[in-house]
Amino acid sequence: AKKAGRDTFRFFDQKMSREARDKLQLEQALRTAIRSGGLSLNFQPKVDLSNGQVFGAEALLRWTHPEMGPISPSVFIPLAEDSGLIVDIGSWVMHKTCETLVAWRKAGLALPRIAVNISVQQLEQDDFAGWLEELLASYQLDLQLLELEITETGLMKNEKRALLSLARLQAKGFRIALDDFGTGYSSLSYLRKLPLSTLKIDRSFIQDMSLDRVSLSIVNTIIQLAKDLSLDLVAEGVEDFGQAEQLMKLGCQHAQGFHFYRPMAEDKFTQLLAASNS
Ligand code: C2E
Ligand code: CA
Ligand code: CA
Ligand code: CA
Repeated sequence: AKKAGRDTFRFFDQKMSREARDKLQLEQALRTAIRSGGLSLNFQPKVDLSNGQVFGAEALLRWTHPEMGPISPSVFIPLAEDSGLIVDIGSWVMHKTCETLVAWRKAGLALPRIAVNISVQQLEQDDFAGWLEELLASYQLDLQLLELEITETGLMKNEKRALLSLARLQAKGFRIALDDFGTGYSSLSYLRKLPLSTLKIDRSFIQDMSLDRVSLSIVNTIIQLAKDLSLDLVAEGVEDFGQAEQLMKLGCQHAQGFHFYRPMAEDKFTQLLAASNS
């Protein structure tokens, strides 16, 4: 029995080290992707519920591995956060977003507001706000064109430092959105601590809204809350007409989800912008 126990351990060790090695290889590939064009941005339009007009988009990062094909952000973002690569990746995302906005400006398009997801490790970089301000200035872009989406789960890890960084960003005029609102443990207390422009109602509430009184009531409450606090409000994960209609009835102004548009490649989104400009 003792020997079997040892063998189990050995097997376990080997399995662990294989997982660790796979993870390291994936991390190495991601590191390479930052420099070799393996990353790209998709854009998911955000619409005005009353008229369907596109007023902005969320930039969503995509990674295509040379052998494995597309890897989900839910896999590679946590990997990037564990390894610290997220800082370089976040910087790539910001540059790419700025370059894209400049390309649209050159094409004579009215510029949409672009929301970019930010990890707390980026916020914790020395003078992140100053860095970002200079970046936008170097592209001659208005700060208001950018919205920074943050989640409270990220913030909890090093709250003080992150909140300070957010306060600096807000003081400079950047817009800040609280993502996945309602899912964390202290969503309501963050309303008092954070300098917010926007709330994004988490997709889970929208999905259950028609089935479950509690979800409907939560959605309704968040809509009233956003009104009282004069915050912009975006409902996430709107997948059907019924949800869109319900949200509009409840007084929600903005939405994002597969019912309107899926995340799309840059050229597709450019076409959409051009069509809504003309
Ligand atoms: P998120 O910020 O909550 O982004 C919304 C996610 O919901 C996206 O998944 C989007 O494709 C998906 N989605 C949009 N509409 C619908 C819908 O109607 N139904 C359903 N079921 N899903 C919908 P995606 O692109 O896989 O991204 C997953 C997460 O990865 C994001 O969640 C965000 O936390 C993270 N992420 C993506 N890009 C970046 C980035 O550039 N930086 C950082 N730090 N995180 C990122
Ligand atoms: Ca987001
Ligand atoms: Ca979200
Ligand atoms: Ca999320």
